[in-house]
Amino acid sequence: MRTARRLARALIIAIVLIALICWYLVWTHDHPADSPFTELDLTRPIGLFTGRKIAALGDDTPKCETLLFRAGVRYRALPAAGTGQCAYDDAVRLTKGGALTAGFRPERVDVSCPVAAGLAVWEQQIVQPAAEHLLGARVTGIDHFGSYSCRRMYGRSTGDWSEHARANAIDVAGFRLSDGRRITVARDWNGGTLKQQQFLRAVRDGACKLFATVLSPDYNAAHHDHLHLDQAMRGEFGWRACR
Ligand SMILES: [Zn+2]
Repeated sequence: MRTARRLARALIIAIVLIALICWYLVWTHDHPADSPFTELDLTRPIGLFTGRKIAALGDDTPKCETLLFRAGVRYRALPAAGTGQCAYDDAVRLTKGGALTAGFRPERVDVSCPVAAGLAVWEQQIVQPAAEHLLGARVTGIDHFGSYSCRRMYGRSTGDWSEHARANAIDVAGFRLSDGRRITVARDWNGGTLKQQQFLRAVRDGACKLFATVLSPDYNAAHHDHLHLDQAMRGEFGWRACR
């Protein structure tokens, strides 16, 4: 009698486990970007693990470049540059056209491949839909303050090196719209129309799904005029900053 009960219990547990596994397989099939185990595809809708997978590409530049290529992003691989703490060997130059419809200003955007991947998905899946929805226009240009800069955080003489020192960050200053309007973080984060403020917060929040670190004017005065986006490597389950 006792053996029969044990067997029944084991059977129920086995059935529940099998059901859970089946549910998980079906669910990840429909939501591949929400699983930590599926391969990254930059054209898929953003999921729970998209940002972590993009940041992890810092370990695998060939894979990162393959994903950019497959996603139709135009880029040119750059030779290794810099020395010591400011050396980098995984930079690419993003060029307009292909999957990326907005250009960058200045036009030259030399960033680490994971930052480029984050920017490409951000532009297509966050920035353009937010602009269309909130502002009724498309973004034709993304203004930036640059990427590579050999310095420590906040330009101090001591302390941790900035992700900018490895071209692993970019500072986005504003957006140019198809109707001629311009939106800047400095002027419009607090001073713009409600829709402009909502747009800037929407693109900041969306960036948090794609970049390891996002710092906005909400963080501190040093970021009053730009959104800092970087792909700091903090391990598969490391912390992410979104402020
Ligand atoms: Zn920055």
